[in-house]
Amino acid sequence: MKLKPQELLDTIDYSKLPSTGWMETPNDFSPGRWPYPAKVELHKALGFKNAHEWRADEEDWHLPENWQDIIHQGFKARLDKYRSFKVFMDICVRCGACADKCHFYVGGGDPKNMPVLRAELLRSVYRKDFTMAGKILGKLNGARVLEKDVLKEWFLYFYQCTECRRCSLFCPYGIDTAEITMMARELLHEVGLGINWIIEPVSNCNRTGNHLGIQPHAFKEIVEFMCDDIEEYTGVRINPPFNEPGHEVLFITPSGDVFADPGIYTFMGYLLLFEAIGLDYTLSTYASEGGNFGFFTGADTMQKLNGKMYAEAKRLGSKWILGGECGHMWRVVNQYMDTMNGYMQEGSNLTTPRNPITGTVFHNAAQTKMVHITEFTADLIKHGKLNLSPERNDHLRVTYHDSCNTARGMGLFEEPRYVIKNVCNNYFEMPPQTTREQTFCCAGGSGLNTEEIMEIRMRGGLPRGNAVKYVRDKHDVNMLACICAIDRATLPPLANFWAPGVSVTGVHEMVGNALNLPGQKKREVNLRGEPLEEV
Ligand code: SF4
Ligand code: SF4
Repeated sequence: MKLKPQELLDTIDYSKLPSTGWMETPNDFSPGRWPYPAKVELHKALGFKNAHEWRADEEDWHLPENWQDIIHQGFKARLDKYRSFKVFMDICVRCGACADKCHFYVGGGDPKNMPVLRAELLRSVYRKDFTMAGKILGKLNGARVLEKDVLKEWFLYFYQCTECRRCSLFCPYGIDTAEITMMARELLHEVGLGINWIIEPVSNCNRTGNHLGIQPHAFKEIVEFMCDDIEEYTGVRINPPFNEPGHEVLFITPSGDVFADPGIYTFMGYLLLFEAIGLDYTLSTYASEGGNFGFFTGADTMQKLNGKMYAEAKRLGSKWILGGECGHMWRVVNQYMDTMNGYMQEGSNLTTPRNPITGTVFHNAAQTKMVHITEFTADLIKHGKLNLSPERNDHLRVTYHDSCNTARGMGLFEEPRYVIKNVCNNYFEMPPQTTREQTFCCAGGSGLNTEEIMEIRMRGGLPRGNAVKYVRDKHDVNMLACICAIDRATLPPLANFWAPGVSVTGVHEMVGNALNLPGQKKREVNLRGEPLEEV
């Protein structure tokens, strides 16, 4: 990343109009403006047709000969299958209410990152191919022929959308640009165009059960290493069950929590919590991923990867599923899981989740049988079931980033805040127009958390980074909490760029640090192994 923050800000000029109309503006495939293509062997192994070698910065993308027909047929099939897609293509009145709501537009000023224009890239072809007015009036009606440059433009801009749905919040018609992006990406896949940062995790998940490709024995060993650390830090030995049938709860979390810093500290927090309350649970090395990069690829892939959660719950005889801190996992669970895979509950022991410690019945999870860990922990705290020493987190001055998917995708606003405020004493909100349902994206979601587009990510991260900087400067905030594994990967470079001095944590890392367990020794270090003053 060559630009410094002020240099980046100096490049943004919202008043500067392009010298050409949007249909004539050429694509810019300079280095850093496009994510790398998917490896052909991975694309093929997943059953995608027309997988081939190509590069975005070369003139010839080696498309199949009949690529226009493939896209046309794919477009038609999706219009027939998804009523919402057809409606979204027809009803936009171009009022512009969404125009300045996208973080990529805010951070770059490129008009094609206005959600209305992003959707128009697809809608213009829809008009030409599927409406009478577009066929007759052509450009006068905002219609255009699907030429190669149009397809390239789709690739450029539908991989500059994180499917965060902030724009749809402001649309008077409820047009969901994220779903338009999902359709565009599906169509691009039909002609062999996908990106490796998405397809490799999908391929890994398809083979091993998790995005990172962790084999079952390695998954178990990593968790056991965490248990060794927990024992060293707390004096309490935890031996979590793996793949054991007959437990009430199956716990599933994103594999980022098992593999990467700071997610592993969040996972240690989960383990401490379950030990403290004596939860009857098991982990699974098969359903070893709650996240779902299939969601960023296409509906069929999303359905397939999601299915392992119910399949494993059925195999193990679990009564319900407790899910860890993740964003898109919960969007898939709340918006699609029941429709896609609800039938898989048949013949299982799954039932409406009930907290065995408090007796609370989670009626909101009656369909999916899945409870979010912050709902679960908030319920435990509310009923006085946890022995907490929030003073152990007194060195932290914390703010909370609402992950787009848990906030806008499931309305989970209060439970994470309730948990944080009970496990630490210094909490500060970012400005209200950047939180809860209006939260700004980390700019690395939906598979864009890749190094080669770091400038695009930092531009998209401007609104969130600016809000973090605000609370850092005003309240000395030094910790940004979140409940999403992608955020735990994308927010550290974002904070480092826009608000240096602010670190990133999962909520259950702070829970683990505040939690007291029977038989624990004097807590001298936190879950990161850093010295801690005993309270
Ligand atoms: S707010 Fe909705 S109707 Fe208005 S331009 Fe945006 S997508 Fe179209
Ligand atoms: S990134 Fe978010 S705000 Fe921008 S167009 Fe996509 S869904 Fe809308």
